[in-house]
Amino acid sequence: MEITKHFFFNLAIIITILFFGLLWLTLKRKFHISKRFAVIWSIILIWVCFQFSYHPTPNIFMDLRELPVLIGGLYLGIGPMLCFIVILIRGLYGLNIGFFANAILYLVLAILLWRIYPWFWSRPAKKRIYISLILGIIISLVTLTSVGIIHGSVNLLDYLFAYLVVPPLGISMISMSIETVLNNILIRDKLLKAGKLEVVEQMGAAISHEIRNPLTAAKGFVQLLKEDPLSQKQAEYLSIISAELDSAERVIKDYLTFAKPSIEKLEQIDVMNELKRILSILQPTANQYSVELITNFELVGFLLGERQKFHQCFLNVIKNGIEAMPQGGQLTITTESGEKYITILIKDYGVGMTKEQIERLGEPYYSTKEGKGTGLGMMVAYSIVRSMNGKISVNSEMGIGTTFCFSFPIPSGLYSKGEKLN
Ligand code: ADP
Ligand code: MG
Repeated sequence: MEITKHFFFNLAIIITILFFGLLWLTLKRKFHISKRFAVIWSIILIWVCFQFSYHPTPNIFMDLRELPVLIGGLYLGIGPMLCFIVILIRGLYGLNIGFFANAILYLVLAILLWRIYPWFWSRPAKKRIYISLILGIIISLVTLTSVGIIHGSVNLLDYLFAYLVVPPLGISMISMSIETVLNNILIRDKLLKAGKLEVVEQMGAAISHEIRNPLTAAKGFVQLLKEDPLSQKQAEYLSIISAELDSAERVIKDYLTFAKPSIEKLEQIDVMNELKRILSILQPTANQYSVELITNFELVGFLLGERQKFHQCFLNVIKNGIEAMPQGGQLTITTESGEKYITILIKDYGVGMTKEQIERLGEPYYSTKEGKGTGLGMMVAYSIVRSMNGKISVNSEMGIGTTFCFSFPIPSGLYSKGEKLN
């Protein structure tokens, strides 16, 4: 059981160090850590693993170095770098057969982790845990085989137990802890956003009752006075009052659009036609920014909701996409219709956003367009999509562009296999 003992000792150290890391992340309320920090942290973990290696012969080092490599590779995308670091550190302990076996394994792992990282993050949390576990088992099996070949006379039961229990156990424990912390951070952010929205919605309700009603009354009386003005001057003033009251009403109406996004009257929305209409409205803005609007309406269908609000939502999002490309460029709007969902993709090749900026999207008054923006557009879009039971996901990279993906459930009874359009 010597090797199992070593492995458990390794695991205890890794989990202790990771515990403090996760605690720090939770306190910082962010899951973004700098690459440099993550690399240093992983090097310490790998180095510690080597320090407490079990070596039955001077050629062989047995430890849990794959754990920091897998976690760093899957969760932070630094797998290839960590693999090279493992090869380098192993090299310091002698260039023997153990080194070459290790080098081959970690070169393959480097390529695997490099390819798998983006795909890994597109999987749901539960699947991510399984993927980590499966990779852990595969690496254990490969290591076990190579140790068997190099070392020959092994106490098979002891090795099998150590390799097939400890590393997979460790990797799934760590992966589960990371997912739990990640989920807690997401839930807390959602709650914070919901709290802010609630304040705005309450203000919306107050405005609609306390200001809109007196405004309507005032407008009525101004109308009456206009019918029978005492002098030319008064008629002029009354017109100005009337125009100002109209503009005040318009502002309130706009505010209420996002403050009260609940769907009032349900209509059948022809997604493609509605998007075409929005694009024709935005064409002058696009021309002004030298942006080419490209449509890719492959499969389309109908949604249930309020047309006016659907319109407003996509107007805001597409307008942002155009505004993100001050030097011009292309903006693509793609629609797809599946069995259960209609997906609308809005892709621009503009300035892009950082992870922090993406997180703040939809917050009231969040804008990076100094003086020019109101910071309400995305909030309106988010609340409208929410009221239609839709989902938004954002993919963005600084300097490269942004893709907004909207998916709306197709209401039962309305589903008709979308006809193929060019
Ligand atoms: P506004 O457009 O008035 O600034 P929005 O709520 O529409 O407010 O958008 C909020 C912020 O989100 C913008 O200021 C911008 O920083 C960011 N944003 C939204 N869409 C994009 C996009 N397609 N590309 C880059 N940044 C975007
Ligand atoms: Mg905007």
